[in-house]
Amino acid sequence: MKKIIIIGGGFAGIAAADLLSKYRNQFDITLIDKKPDFNFLPMLPDVISNRVSVKFLRCSLSDLAAKWGIKFINAFVHDVCLEENKILYADNALNYDYLVLAAGSETNFYNDMNLQKQAFKLDNLEDAVLILNDLNSQKYENFVICGGGYTGVEIATNIRRYFFKRKLAVKPIFIVEKSKEVLDRLPQWMQEYTCLNLKKMGIEVIRQAEVKAVIDGKIMLNNGKIFPKAGLIWAAGVKTPDFLSRIGLKTSFQGRVFVDEYLRINPNCFCVGDNAYIETSGQPLRMGVQFAIAQGCLAAKNIIRSIQRGKLKKYHALDLGYIIPMANNKACGIILGLKVTGLVAVFLHYLMCVFRSLSIRNRLGIIGNLWRKK
Ligand SMILES: Cc1cc2nc3c(=O)[nH]c(=O)nc-3n(C[C@H](O)[C@H](O)[C@H](O)COP(=O)(O)OP(=O)(O)OC[C@H]3O[C@@H](n4cnc5c(N)ncnc54)[C@H](O)[C@@H]3O)c2cc1C
Repeated sequence: MKKIIIIGGGFAGIAAADLLSKYRNQFDITLIDKKPDFNFLPMLPDVISNRVSVKFLRCSLSDLAAKWGIKFINAFVHDVCLEENKILYADNALNYDYLVLAAGSETNFYNDMNLQKQAFKLDNLEDAVLILNDLNSQKYENFVICGGGYTGVEIATNIRRYFFKRKLAVKPIFIVEKSKEVLDRLPQWMQEYTCLNLKKMGIEVIRQAEVKAVIDGKIMLNNGKIFPKAGLIWAAGVKTPDFLSRIGLKTSFQGRVFVDEYLRINPNCFCVGDNAYIETSGQPLRMGVQFAIAQGCLAAKNIIRSIQRGKLKKYHALDLGYIIPMANNKACGIILGLKVTGLVAVFLHYLMCVFRSLSIRNRLGIIGNLWRKK
């Protein structure tokens, strides 16, 4: 029986596992993840403002595996040996005939251990709950979000929502952005829309500045500004997990692995989702749920074709668009090539979230929370 291992029970890994499970009588399929649950990442910012409960954003991976009739191992993979078709986790090793690398991405602290220790991040549900607990504790006088990408913007607006919905005095919130503008890689009209909305919400953007250090609870910027008693949330970039860079493959600056047109690294190893570096029209394909799911499905189909000696299918990215949601029910984005803003964009974002959720219970829970906590 051919052995298939999937590393990562996120969007891409789950899509691959679901599809491969239809062949569970023919293949020995193992899903392995360092977390016991699947986490619905696009709604992590909503946890910060307590708009959506974490219980509707997780799904037990062992339950899913049991339902699909595949194996699940809850363990941290620390190495992959492509020469020996082997993965290493804890003190164990597992051999495979086919491997799917779907280990996603995580916050990049650029090797600054001090910042890593002092700052919050937003990689999973536990991180989101830590930020919420911290807001509840009222420990900080200011909030500094490092990074004005979509994650930073979403975090800032949800912190503002937290205070606003509780009728508490809103504490000063700052976004520190290295470049000239927030969302600097997105179209100018989206930058302008977002900046105007942030201004209306009282969130200050500090442009062309960087967080240099946190000393004795004070956040220091490279332009001399100092924030005492401030909570730091780091959202200044992501990278793939370290074990991927140790494999010795060609990777992008974020550690994404270059794959061939069939999403392979070699005939036995596929790489998908945030882990895979793919270009479309000369630009790197952005990280996103829609691509992760489509790639997970294609990798699974190509594994089946490889085993059955069929012709593999090439990956063509289908981009439905993206939305930048902000927590005061404002959003902007491009869907099917059309500009969308305001409530329509907010609605489309949450529609995607409900649609991509893994269970009826979670879908209903999210809808209920969005309705109630409007
Ligand atoms: C705050 C936030 C908001 C986002 N909003 C949106 C949005 O609105 N729309 C959108 O399209 N995308 C959004 N994204 C991006 C989107 O979530 C990712 O592109 C998507 O999750 C990628 O899927 P994946 O399967 O590649 O990785 P993930 O879903 O991240 O799954 C990776 C899995 O691998 C596991 N793993 C990692 N390392 C190891 C290891 N060493 N051993 C074992 N297991 C490991 C992790 O625990 C995780 O379960 C957002 C991301 C974040 C963080």
